[in-house]
Amino acid sequence: MKFGTKAIHAGQEPDPTTGAIMTPIYQTSTYVQEAPGQHKGYAYARGKNPTRVALEKCLAALENAKHGLCFSSGMGAADAVIKLLRPGDEVIATDDLYGGTYRMFTKVFANYGIVFHFIDMHDLDLVKSKINSKTKMLWLETPTNPMMKIIDIQELVAIAKINSLITLVDNTFASPYLQNPLDMGADIAMHSATKYLGGHSDVVMGALMTNNDSLYEQLAFIANSCGATPGPMDSFLVLRGLKTLHLRMKAHCSNGAAVAKFLKSHPKVGKVYWPGFEDHPNHLVAKKQMKDFGGMISFTLKSDSFEEASKLAQNLEVFSLAESLGGVESLVGHPASMTHASIPREERIKTGLVDSLLRLSVGVEDEEDLINDLKQALEAI
Ligand SMILES: *Cc1c(COP(=O)(O)O)cnc(C)c1O
Repeated sequence: MKFGTKAIHAGQEPDPTTGAIMTPIYQTSTYVQEAPGQHKGYAYARGKNPTRVALEKCLAALENAKHGLCFSSGMGAADAVIKLLRPGDEVIATDDLYGGTYRMFTKVFANYGIVFHFIDMHDLDLVKSKINSKTKMLWLETPTNPMMKIIDIQELVAIAKINSLITLVDNTFASPYLQNPLDMGADIAMHSATKYLGGHSDVVMGALMTNNDSLYEQLAFIANSCGATPGPMDSFLVLRGLKTLHLRMKAHCSNGAAVAKFLKSHPKVGKVYWPGFEDHPNHLVAKKQMKDFGGMISFTLKSDSFEEASKLAQNLEVFSLAESLGGVESLVGHPASMTHASIPREERIKTGLVDSLLRLSVGVEDEEDLINDLKQALEAI
C-alpha cells in the first residue's frame, strides 16, 4: 500500500461489535480475565490498550517498520531509548539538537553516568574520532532546529554499522511523509507525535519505530516498566490526525516553498535557512534523502536587531507567536528569547543563531494570506 492509504487504514479494522469505522477510544484501565492469567492479550492498560495498538500499527506502517511504540510525549520516547544503556556507555549526538533532548541528556542522564558527545555530524572524521569501545549509539536529528542543517543519514549509518552502534534518527521535523530513516539503515526512528503526526496542536505524544525485534522487546519492556505510555484519548487524536498527514504535508511543503522564496526576495531579510534552496549547503543531501523540503524555515533580518525581530513576531496576525511546530496553523518563534534562551549569547551566535533569527512553522492556511501577513509585518518594523 502507498503512504496515503496506509495513513488512513493501517492497523485499523471496523469495530467487531458495532462496525464503527473509527477505532473506539477504549477508555479502560483493566480487562476482565476468564480465568487467572487467561485474557485476550490485554491485562492492564499501562502495558497495552486497543486504541494505542491501532495507532502503533499505523505509525509502524508509515515508517515501513515492523514495530511501533507510543509514549506519553516525545521526551518520554527519548527517555526510553537512553534507558537501553548502562553507566559508562557513550552516545554521539548532533550538536544542533532539540533543546529538550539536550537538557535531558546533560541534566538527567549525565547524572546516571552516561556520557554524551555533541558534535557537528557533517564532519565524518570527527564522528569516527569520538568512537571508542564504550560508544553505543549515534543520535541524529535532521533537519536540525533551528538552523535547518541536513545530516546524511546513510553516511552515518555506515559508520555505525562498522562499529556496531545503534543509530537513532529523531524524524520529527521531516515526518515519515518526507523521510524514512529505517529505509536508510537506521535502527530506530523517533517522533514527537505532538508535531506533524498529530498535526492539530491538541495532543502531546511520542513514538518509536524499529525493525529490530530485540530492540522492540527491550523498549516495550521499558515503556511498561517505567510507565510513560499514552492514554486512549490521546491515541485516538493522533490516529485521527494521521488520516490527513499526506494531505497536510503536501500543503506544508508548497506553502513552505512559497514563503521561503518570498522571504529571500525581501530587502529587510538577511539569511533564509530552508533546505529547498540550491545554495543551501546541504541541498543535495536533502534532495537525496527527503521527498520534499518541508514547511520549517528560519530567517534573519539584515539589521540583525533583537528588537526588530521581536516586533516583527508581534506584528504578525496569521502566524501566532508560540513554541512547537507541525500543526495546521502557522507559528513563529524567536529562538534567542524562547527555545534557546538558556544558551549563552556567544555560543549561540557561533552556530548562526543570531539575535534576529526567527523560526517559522508554515501551516496549511492559504499561501496568499501567509505572504501578505509577512509583508505587512516586515513593512511595519
Ligand atoms: C518537540 C520535539 C521533541 C520533544 O517532543 P515532546 O512531544 O514535546 O515531548 C523532540 N524532538 C524534536 C525534534 C521536537 O521538535
